[in-house]
Amino acid sequence: MRLWALELRFLALLLVLLLQPVRAPIPRAQDVSLGVDWLTRYGYLPPADPTQAQLQSLAKLQDAIKVMQRFAGLPETGQMDPVTIATMHKPRCSLPDILGPAGLVRRRRRRRYALSGSVWKKRTLTWRIQSFSQNSQLSQPMVRTLMSYALTVWAVESGLTFQEVDSRHQEPDILIHFSRGYHQDSYPFDGPGGTLAHAFFPGEHPISGDTHFDDEETWTFGSKDGEGTDLFAVAVHEFGHALGLGHSSAPNSIMRPFYQGPVGDPDKYRLSQDDRDGLQQLYGKVSHTPGDKPTRKPLASPPQPPALPPDRPSTPVPDRCEGNFDAIANIRGEIFFFKGPWFWRLQPSGQLVSPRPARLHRFWEGLPEHVRVIQAAYARPRDGRIILFSGPQFWVFQDRQLEGAARPLVEFGLPPGEEVDAVFSWPLNGKTYLIRGQQYWRYDEEAARLDPGYPRALSLWEGAPPSPDDVTISNTGDTYFFKGTHFWRFAKGSVKSESDSPQPMGPKWLDCPAPKYDPQIPNSPKTTPKTGTCDCHCELNQASGQLLVTFLLPLLPSLAGSVFAC
Ligand code: ZN
Ligand code: CA
Ligand code: ZN
Repeated sequence: MRLWALELRFLALLLVLLLQPVRAPIPRAQDVSLGVDWLTRYGYLPPADPTQAQLQSLAKLQDAIKVMQRFAGLPETGQMDPVTIATMHKPRCSLPDILGPAGLVRRRRRRRYALSGSVWKKRTLTWRIQSFSQNSQLSQPMVRTLMSYALTVWAVESGLTFQEVDSRHQEPDILIHFSRGYHQDSYPFDGPGGTLAHAFFPGEHPISGDTHFDDEETWTFGSKDGEGTDLFAVAVHEFGHALGLGHSSAPNSIMRPFYQGPVGDPDKYRLSQDDRDGLQQLYGKVSHTPGDKPTRKPLASPPQPPALPPDRPSTPVPDRCEGNFDAIANIRGEIFFFKGPWFWRLQPSGQLVSPRPARLHRFWEGLPEHVRVIQAAYARPRDGRIILFSGPQFWVFQDRQLEGAARPLVEFGLPPGEEVDAVFSWPLNGKTYLIRGQQYWRYDEEAARLDPGYPRALSLWEGAPPSPDDVTISNTGDTYFFKGTHFWRFAKGSVKSESDSPQPMGPKWLDCPAPKYDPQIPNSPKTTPKTGTCDCHCELNQASGQLLVTFLLPLLPSLAGSVFAC
């Protein structure tokens, strides 16, 4: 089975490489492998069949990617583009999105909900928590309360009754577990992130209706800073499965497969129309007489957010709308904005994960406590590692985990004691740019050394601000310099800033209002892009850069790297 999966991936890659139109970007092997794995796991591709030499054709693979993109509300490109890859890395439910024989994907329907095809024949269901979370600051009574509320969300719309039973009773219909790794079903958990939970559809089997949560997640409730995973939101979703609902692509459905964050007060939470329609298909319409609002007994003790370790008094929560970030990086399609010991995340959809920042040290596991500022950050394309810079040192992370100890910046070939303001990897040539003040170095990741002839003047990037806070590449491939409250845009592959630069970053990036008076409007005397500061290398870029990018780059990446001397 393993071998087949590998072979399948290899052949899929081969097909993709052979059949790519010349100018389309060539997907990386690991992206194709991720795509085939993910699409198979979640029902978009049929499982590899060891008894038949059945291979995924390129067309089938692209079709499956498109269906996945439609389901997730992404542009239907059929390509493993950055947004698609980022979505595949999102935390989610373990259950597949496409139920039934894979490949029989129904075309766009008015209703988005899906049904498992099984339903409880009785109207009263019993439940019990068999094992509690070992890894959460939520108390056991709190977990029980949240489960009870999550079931009530479904009860008030279906007329079903849920009864908590203790262990002396018979096996309950819905048995709840917090488990780690392999836990004796076909859906092993995978540590922090990735799959969060799953539940079994109604039926006669003892496991039917059972609901499992990954105990390696940090379960929270009503966390205001987006920390951890909201247990109430995930429980409502999983109990939908336990009642027979599949995943939905409807924008407001709790049955969307991806984790959406907290959903607010459990006492006030109400299912979306799509979820109610699906439930009604299974259990019929429940009649509410006017004024007969579904009642829920008040919480014995109002849920409190879990106690958090006290912040250092010296680190008040900063206001993202004030800009002046220490570092900004595109990490798997999400833009991370670092400021002091905090950071914000902007999803590929353009939505902030939370308006409140998350704590640096809670997320980046192993980052030493004394590091209170990240000066620059970038994701290393060759292995996906994330590199955080502070002072004359840097730290390497795989996902959220630190690898090894602090390393000196001299490993990049920089002079001892040197620090960096900004670091980015330019997709045009795959090189890493390290900026300090008004100069920059260019680092060759393959050769693991600085390119000769550096540092150079930052003014070669025409219009770029000196000492930028950081530079990053957007999901569309443009280069953005950030400084203070503004950004400067360089179109894909260009080393000349666009004429509308600089612009205030708040409205575009951070869901903040535009400043009323903006002294940095384009063409103001202070920021008129300098002309005539570029040397001959850059003149070449300006004249033919776009042409080269468009026509030659897909064919000649190495040549382009040597032509582009910036
Ligand atoms: Zn699910
Ligand atoms: Ca997990
Ligand atoms: Zn399980």
